[in-house]
Amino acid sequence: MLGLPDQVSALNRIGQKSAAKLKKLGLETVEDLIFYYPFRYEDFSQILPISELRPGLTVTVRGKLELLANRRSPRKRTNLTEGLVSDESGSIKVIWFNQPWIAKNLRPGDEVFLSGKISGDLFALYFNSPSYEKVSAFSANTARIVPVYSLTAGLSQKQIRYLVKSVWPLLKNLADYLPPELIKKYRLWPLNRALSTIHFPANSEQLSRARRRLAFDELFFVQLWSQLAKKALAQKPAAAISFAEAPIKKLIGQLSFELTAEQKKAAWQIIKDLGRPQPMNRLLAGDVGSGKTVVAALAIYNAVLAGRQVALMAPTEILARQHYQTLSRLLAKTKIKVGLSTREQKIINGEKIGKKDFLSQVAAGKLSVVVGTHALIQKEVKFASLALVVIDEQHRFGVAQRQALKCQGSKTPHFLSLTATPIPRSLALALYGDLDLSLIKELPRGRRPIITKIVADNQRQLAYNFIDQQIKAGRQVFVVCPLIDPSDKLGVRSAVQEFEKLDREVFPHWPMGLLHGRLKASEREEVMAKFVAGENKILVATSVIEVGIDVPNATVMMIEGAERFGLAQLHQFRGRVGRGDFQSYCFLFSEAFSPETTERLQALVNYNDGLTLAKMDLALRGAGKFYTYEQSGFGDFRLADLNDLDLIKEAKSAAEELLANNDLVDFPELEKKIKSLNFASHWE
Ligand code: ADP
Ligand code: MG
Repeated sequence: MLGLPDQVSALNRIGQKSAAKLKKLGLETVEDLIFYYPFRYEDFSQILPISELRPGLTVTVRGKLELLANRRSPRKRTNLTEGLVSDESGSIKVIWFNQPWIAKNLRPGDEVFLSGKISGDLFALYFNSPSYEKVSAFSANTARIVPVYSLTAGLSQKQIRYLVKSVWPLLKNLADYLPPELIKKYRLWPLNRALSTIHFPANSEQLSRARRRLAFDELFFVQLWSQLAKKALAQKPAAAISFAEAPIKKLIGQLSFELTAEQKKAAWQIIKDLGRPQPMNRLLAGDVGSGKTVVAALAIYNAVLAGRQVALMAPTEILARQHYQTLSRLLAKTKIKVGLSTREQKIINGEKIGKKDFLSQVAAGKLSVVVGTHALIQKEVKFASLALVVIDEQHRFGVAQRQALKCQGSKTPHFLSLTATPIPRSLALALYGDLDLSLIKELPRGRRPIITKIVADNQRQLAYNFIDQQIKAGRQVFVVCPLIDPSDKLGVRSAVQEFEKLDREVFPHWPMGLLHGRLKASEREEVMAKFVAGENKILVATSVIEVGIDVPNATVMMIEGAERFGLAQLHQFRGRVGRGDFQSYCFLFSEAFSPETTERLQALVNYNDGLTLAKMDLALRGAGKFYTYEQSGFGDFRLADLNDLDLIKEAKSAAEELLANNDLVDFPELEKKIKSLNFASHWE
């Protein structure tokens, strides 16, 4: 008898070729196969007498095959297999196209199930290419709710079902990795029952019980990991930084605006965390333009006042430079040294400085604040007394990345992540159990909602006229394209092409810049600087401008190929305008106006807040698309629905209870399972 760790190639009828194809689907062992869930089902469970069939019904018929023969159709190249099936109530014709082997698999006289949709009219009904199967004790393809799996070229549903069916008996003896008390308390189905049902459910109620159990597991594993990480971090010592009340209040007093209540609350949560001798691990989430930077700046200032160093890491050099400028401005009246590290140059308080000097100042603890990209800071810089790391626009910062930060001494720095992707509460609970959360839920007062319009292609000229007027009035404009270069994909606009067209034909009288990821850092910087200074009126760009860029004079965001971006991302683009006192506009162009596209884009017209849009994105595209794997740190959930807040909460409590009195090593089966999951590598 086979066991779970055995290779699928040990199964009957699996040759090397099939094994290679299965491997493409990630199916190497029997266990892989068992955990390969169907992505949908076909309900063929209704079995009707032939006399009761009606056109359009999806049903199963049980009958005797009377005739079966192949023939060429009048239209050449098509091979028809035609048959007649009868039961006590009548008979029905059946036809398959280009599957001549069916005439070998089935013989007249066989008892068969046929499942599918009935075609024809009331006078001449027939089955068109139904699923078929000889009647047996266990039908896998007909006469039941039939599983449908993702396939790869050269594999068929029938083959996968056959394989699953052949390992199915093993499930009876499969041990459950969850402790029995937990299964009981959360009214879960045992693992073996859930797994056998997920492949071959008897009915839809049972299927939903099975799904609940397996979805619970997915959420539970993530929770367990997060909480283990949280526990591990809490045991590391960090530098406790006391609240420098007077200078911080003074800095707040010097701002050109009043902090919102939410900003104050978040700043206070962070400052309290910094005061503890365990590392802070906090996510500061707030919609685009909610003013996260200044909150982070207060924390940075506090750490520096305590004589410590701070790293501020951004996903792009453009953004790093902007943060450097913001911090330099905010801290201008203090004696604090702020440095910027890009690939091509190092700067301290406005002065260019050699790389060696720069790095030695950091290593000697003389440079207090270092701003740069994630990659750069992790690779090059070694700190004397790093006590706070601020990470802009990256959700999860793994243990490995943490360890890559080079720091003398044994203290672990405090971590603060900023994100403008508003996080629905359910998602935060499900994915970020190890992070404490601060939310900025309101925008600074006085911001006018951005006017958003979906623009049909025949109104393009009107949009250009409007842009022309805006520029005449002194404002600036972003144009975002999905690609850098022209591509084979017909009609997708590229930044390079669009720039040329606008520059030559549409706005020859306005200076404009082109920004994309392939430019050298110094070129990008120059383009950005010209736009920030108002020299260039139009900036044509790819999604490199997605996050963070702050140019309050820009009032129009024109997005080409809008259908190619997610709602959350489009909202990010839109957030590049409306940051100053002027009424701002977002124009959405699309190459393919399907009803779904229009509906999706319409959401952007209707809603101005990122949270609502993020929730819609989540519902429309699922969590896997909503956050990339990198960002979330976990793969896609296969069964768990991130809109099911109740189940998420249950999984969370279950993980808390389990770890409250035990360690993972007390549950060897569970430990083994969790270690086998691929997100493990993100944590170790
Ligand atoms: P984000 O949260 O998207 O990173 P920023 O921190 O870039 O937003 O802030 C957006 C703009 O709002 C900046 O120009 C900033 O100076 C300004 N700002 C921040 N807080 C306030 C406030 N309380 N009132 C008015 N303007 C503010
Ligand atoms: Mg920002």
